[in-house]
Amino acid sequence: MQRKNTAEWKGRRGCINLYSDSQTLPTAEMLRAMTSAQLGDEQRRLDPTVAELEQRVARLLGHEAAVFLPSGTMCNLIGLLLHVGSAGDEVLLERGAHPVAFEAGGGARLAGAMFRTVETENGIFGASQVEEAVRASGGSSAPRPRLVFVEQSTRTGSVWPLDTLRDVVEAARSHGLRAHLDGARLLNACVAAGAEPASYAAQFDTAWVDFTKGLGAPFGAVLAGSRGRIDEAWRYKKMLGGAMRQTGVVASACLYALDHNVERLADDHANARALAEGLSSIPGIGVDPLAVETNIVVFSVDDAPALVGELANGGVDLVALDGHRIRAVTHLGIDRAGIDEALSRVHEAMERRYLLDV
Ligand SMILES: *Cc1c(COP(=O)(O)O)cnc(C)c1O
Repeated sequence: MQRKNTAEWKGRRGCINLYSDSQTLPTAEMLRAMTSAQLGDEQRRLDPTVAELEQRVARLLGHEAAVFLPSGTMCNLIGLLLHVGSAGDEVLLERGAHPVAFEAGGGARLAGAMFRTVETENGIFGASQVEEAVRASGGSSAPRPRLVFVEQSTRTGSVWPLDTLRDVVEAARSHGLRAHLDGARLLNACVAAGAEPASYAAQFDTAWVDFTKGLGAPFGAVLAGSRGRIDEAWRYKKMLGGAMRQTGVVASACLYALDHNVERLADDHANARALAEGLSSIPGIGVDPLAVETNIVVFSVDDAPALVGELANGGVDLVALDGHRIRAVTHLGIDRAGIDEALSRVHEAMERRYLLDV
């Protein structure tokens, strides 16, 4: 088979990589930007490229200041450290939110956060769920609610409508709670909704964007907030071992991504929609293409782990979310030809399963 850009196009085991947008490789142009970056000692705030990135993200998110961190996970952890007043204080978030499921329990171990989870289909909850949680927490025997944690876009790639987001933050504020925005895919949400990043992010006490997801940098995330909070975040960055040295080499990739990889997220969204439409015509697959708002497609089959296992051998890398649901994520390493090829491989695998089943 002839493929251009083989390294980007395929993931591990030679599969078409719909596993995650975190697995993209830097393009040749991004690598060029990295080799010409001006560098300095980031820990002493002497790396000009990191400083430029921090200022740019602060402005983009409508905040005073920002700090470059190695990962989105550390942005969340530092957010929790900043906002959870004392161990045992409560954080309200969706049941599948990243700190609940994918941060090795760091929120509890290191920030003393007690998670109170809200059950939703698509990661979006409402002000009434904040009110309920706060009411249920009344009295001296309940944990003290401290923080509302929001992901934009959500784990299903859904985009919070601005009004819903505002209502949730207002409900939090009216009870003296703080608010933190996990923007691992914030720019996906912005491109899909035609919204400015600050329109979502500015109302939060802390907000961050990831550069290793759809933006295609090798790693890195930037956490924004007031100057005082970001100074405090710097303490935690040092405490956690997240203060680095000549990180301009990566910050330059992030700056490159802001300049070149944001508008193109619309292509990933169109590819995700095309994937969902194609999947919807395969017998045995359940999916609503209209529910696909950004670069994540969730579809259902009778036995998700079995199909994912079969496709891992048959050339498409996917994630089984549970017994029936499968997640596919589009990104800059996948073009429309890749989507078409993935569809035909899924179709074949479903036919094989169907023939074996009868
Ligand atoms: C990927 C992701 C993170 C963590 O980002 P890393 O940079 O991989 O640590 C946090 N939250 C959400 C919603 C994510 O998708």
